[in-house]
Amino acid sequence: MTAVPITALKGVGTALSLKLERLGINSLQDLLFHLPMRYQDRTRLYPLGALQPGAEVLVEGELRLADVVNGRRRSLLCRLQDGSGQLTLRFFHFNAAQKNALKTGVRVRAFGEVRPGSAGLEMIHPEYQVLTAGQPAPTPEQALTPVYPMTEGLTQVRLRSLVRQALVRLGPDDLPDLLPESLRRTQALPELLQALRFLHQPPPDVDQQALLAGRHPAQRRLALEELLAHHLSLTRVRQQIQQQGGWMIPLAPQHAAAFLQQLPFALTAAQQRVIAEISEDLQKPVPMLRLVQGDVGSGKTLVAALAAVQVIAAGFQVAVMAPTEILAEQHYHNFSQWCAPLGIDVAWLAGKVKGRQRRQQLEQIASGSAALVVGTHALFQEEVSFARLALVVIDEQHRFGVHQRLSLREKGAEGDRAPHQLIMTATPIPRTLTMSAYADLDCSIIDELPPGRTPVTTLVIPDSRRDEVVQRVRQACSQGRQAYWVCTLIEESEALQCQAAEVTAAYLAEQLSDLRVGLVHGRMKAAEKAAVMAEFKSAHLDLLVATTVIEVGVDVPNASLMIIENPERLGLAQLHQLRGRVGRGSVESFCVLMYHPPLSRQGRERLHVMRETTDGFRIAEKDLQLRGPGEVLGTRQTGMLQFRIADLERDADLLAQVQGLAQAFQSRPDLAAALIERWMGSSTSYAQV
Ligand code: ADP
Ligand code: MG
Repeated sequence: MTAVPITALKGVGTALSLKLERLGINSLQDLLFHLPMRYQDRTRLYPLGALQPGAEVLVEGELRLADVVNGRRRSLLCRLQDGSGQLTLRFFHFNAAQKNALKTGVRVRAFGEVRPGSAGLEMIHPEYQVLTAGQPAPTPEQALTPVYPMTEGLTQVRLRSLVRQALVRLGPDDLPDLLPESLRRTQALPELLQALRFLHQPPPDVDQQALLAGRHPAQRRLALEELLAHHLSLTRVRQQIQQQGGWMIPLAPQHAAAFLQQLPFALTAAQQRVIAEISEDLQKPVPMLRLVQGDVGSGKTLVAALAAVQVIAAGFQVAVMAPTEILAEQHYHNFSQWCAPLGIDVAWLAGKVKGRQRRQQLEQIASGSAALVVGTHALFQEEVSFARLALVVIDEQHRFGVHQRLSLREKGAEGDRAPHQLIMTATPIPRTLTMSAYADLDCSIIDELPPGRTPVTTLVIPDSRRDEVVQRVRQACSQGRQAYWVCTLIEESEALQCQAAEVTAAYLAEQLSDLRVGLVHGRMKAAEKAAVMAEFKSAHLDLLVATTVIEVGVDVPNASLMIIENPERLGLAQLHQLRGRVGRGSVESFCVLMYHPPLSRQGRERLHVMRETTDGFRIAEKDLQLRGPGEVLGTRQTGMLQFRIADLERDADLLAQVQGLAQAFQSRPDLAAALIERWMGSSTSYAQV
């Protein structure tokens, strides 16, 4: 199954092949997988009397009038009639030859979109053909006309002709069907080439609705194959890592007991279950690859800490990585507190740790005198080398992106052994996504919150009632509670966000002169941020004005009110994270979503979801529905989960089947490799990690 280079086609030279490359097309095989996004029907003529605005149709008639009019814009107007009705063809750009050809009395066939115009229905710049009197009219197309995703410098006509050539040229030897025949039979799935041919040239009587919705068997067949290829590539990554072998870490019951003893509470049943799952993995001679999902506040940090204690007791090192400095610092603080009584030294490494301090930390990490290392992604820079790293904990994973997760694995691999990996995410991921995006990971779920928490009540209020909201803050704080005021901006610009927070903080300090108002934003120095956070935590501040930097991890149980400005600009997962900062104590907490009217329909729907539920999994499902998997997984930039044909939502029902099929392919590594190559190409680095 060797790829036939695209230059094998007539007329494809360097210039054209570069353009095609921009569409991901390098071979004839790629070209056939570049599917139409929609179709035009040029297979039959529509009577002019039956035209509807918005339809894209083929029409034919006689010109009754052809005139250049000087309206607001000069245009050539041609009135077409066919006995059943009439239609205006309008040209803003035309040359003399066109004007001469389009004369009263000639027959014209035209294709274009029908729109309402000033004098009835019209087509603007239709494709057209003047028919020669006395000669038979050309027969309409036999198949629907494909409309492809495009790139600059290429035309639909050109691409269509290339696809036609490729369809003639490629046979089953070039594009063998890699799905088992028995499966195709039982599922009534068409054979590969047949499916591709069908989708590029569908017969006129095809169910166009099904095609547009991506539900046609020919599309389902390809989606299934693509999902399978994706799944297989992730499983292959997993196998490659696990072939490396890992460190067998025995249970450390005494150390765990000593650790637990210092806590003022008992573990939840869910925490215990997940810890048991992790311990079992750690005892095996293969690297653990486990994802822990747990809603905000479900106590993931402790679960990770217990795993760390077990690994450290066995004489190894543990790295804990967080996505932001604030969160990393908080972890450093917590872990240090927990570890001190056990005599474990903790090192701290972030971008801002510099000079002598940095050298010192690096030294401790390299010598192994620091058994636990907490930091940001600075942990995985070249200069950092670990003495005997056996466990990597990655917190709030989804902010790192799938790609980074995979590249981190190389770090810490030593000789033929790789460290265990524990990945924790606070953004619950819908099951369908877990199965496909994380097929390389085992999954544990902490599906229980520690007892004694009162659910947060969420209010949706327009910003025209700002004064009321300010009073609400005054009231809560006068009762000894604390509050957050979160400023958001649609621009990604951090500078603008921080500026907005500064203005708001000044305004609130003036309005609430009896309260102590603090401000924290991303442009402050880490030490300043930490100082403000510490003041808030120790209740020396009543109100904390913040940008979304407080999104993850920050833990102040006495804070029971959160105002979020312009919540309509944030994704549901992010709102859920923010809201999770309150409701951590025993008093009733409130979250006020103060939106700026008018809300779009989707905006209204999203805020409604936030008001209705505090269940992170339901919110994630809804987020997926409203925004798509790229946003939910944070993979939009990395492009990791961009399927060519499959759509995780639409094709969710295929995923169970994908898992079964992937099992079956285990015995055919050659076929699996061919599938991965076909769909992911050889360029995807993670297929070769
Ligand atoms: P998250 O899962 O969001 O990372 P954390 O690990 O930060 O949650 O825990 C949230 C808060 O709950 C912390 O203050 C932590 O000490 C506390 N906590 C964790 N486990 C329990 C438990 N079993 N009972 C009571 N409180 C707990
Ligand atoms: Mg956490």
